[in-house]
Amino acid sequence: MLSVFDIFKIGIGPSSSHTVGPMRIGKRFLEEAAARGALGRAVRVKADLHGSLALTGVGHGSDKATILGLMGFEPDRTDPDEAEAAFAAVRREGRLALCQGPEIAFDYSADIDLRGDVIPDIHPNEMHLALYGDDGAVLYEQDYYSVGGGFIATAKQLSAPADDDLIARPRRGGRVFASAAELLTLCERDGLAIHELILENEDAIRLRTETEQGLDAIWAAMRDCIDRGLRTEGVLPGGLAVSRRAPSLYKKLLEAPLANEREQLFDWLNVYAMAVNEENAAGGRVVTAPTNGAAGIIPAVLKHYCAAEGAANLRHIRIFLATAAGIGMLYKQRASISGAEMGCQGEVGVACSMAAGGLAAVWGGAVRQVERAAEIGMEHNLGLTCDPVGGLVQIPCIERNAIGAVKAVNAARLALRASESHKVSLDQVIETMRQTGLDMSRKYKETSEGGLAVNVVEC
Ligand code: SF4
Repeated sequence: MLSVFDIFKIGIGPSSSHTVGPMRIGKRFLEEAAARGALGRAVRVKADLHGSLALTGVGHGSDKATILGLMGFEPDRTDPDEAEAAFAAVRREGRLALCQGPEIAFDYSADIDLRGDVIPDIHPNEMHLALYGDDGAVLYEQDYYSVGGGFIATAKQLSAPADDDLIARPRRGGRVFASAAELLTLCERDGLAIHELILENEDAIRLRTETEQGLDAIWAAMRDCIDRGLRTEGVLPGGLAVSRRAPSLYKKLLEAPLANEREQLFDWLNVYAMAVNEENAAGGRVVTAPTNGAAGIIPAVLKHYCAAEGAANLRHIRIFLATAAGIGMLYKQRASISGAEMGCQGEVGVACSMAAGGLAAVWGGAVRQVERAAEIGMEHNLGLTCDPVGGLVQIPCIERNAIGAVKAVNAARLALRASESHKVSLDQVIETMRQTGLDMSRKYKETSEGGLAVNVVEC
């Protein structure tokens, strides 16, 4: 069952599929090995990263994340500074303390193998992990896939998603939907807004007060991320020498708040989105929304339109997040939110669609207007490629989130101002995104083998 908290997860940057996913895989692998009695006898662990995970692995921090996962770090509880220090110590000392297991020798150059020449059949983000005993025999091995937004799976799980991967299937009661059309029908039949239906489905998992506290914690993490990004100056890591721009733009906006009245909307959305994505690029704490690469759009729109203090505003934030999560579930189930599968339309495009729907809901849109906003938010991101320069989540990712935030607001406006019925449904645009992603050359799907990644010279 997908939950709001599968879509919005606190983690660390720079990538949900290439950082959060590999970290979760490392830990899960050792848990499985321990359950089979293999962990205690291990003297070596080896991780082979294939496809996109290898091609953009170093820039996205996949090597580091895998090692941290093997040490037992968890994305939502990891302090970025502590993680950096632990990774540096492993490389320096050549020793790795396996989670719940022995400390073993670890040779970074031999035990992490980035095999970009291996093109996986099942999913482009593949990782093979193996534990060896002192006689060199394999004690336990497994293939895993990081399928976007921090979700991970084995080959078996991917080939048979079955019941536990259905959208919003409540454990006790509630309403099942597997398409936007079904979601709208259920809402209209029962007189519910989308966020009300989503929250009622969450009630099948936990108390409503706990869900509300969880949503408030997600918003707090987003807000903290914006605040850190607005304050932190300097150059982003990775070698591209990209300077953080959010702090200086923020200062200018504070010093002359009315200097550009007509363009102010853009400036504020831009600065908030860039603050988040600069934090993400620096490996800071962010919320998948629905991915790390696209993490700035929803917080930027929320911050600009739901920034006032007080209970009424908190209510708006919950409406926004629950609605956006419902839309995100549709993309996750019916297509993909992985840049390695769909290109950037599956990350920034989906975030834009989710933010447009969430904002339309906060602005009082009916369910069909919310669906329309989400549809417009994706329709004009179709075909968006993923071609990060240097394999880093910086160019075009940071600015792209700023553009995506502005586009999301415009999509919500267009939807609420429209009078005639629309010709393109959300289900149709999701299916179009899926087909476009399948047709897209792999050069443009998080491999850094095409587009800006080959035309912009690194220096
Ligand atoms: S280009 Fe888009 S999909 Fe690719 S890494 Fe950047 S944000 Fe993610």
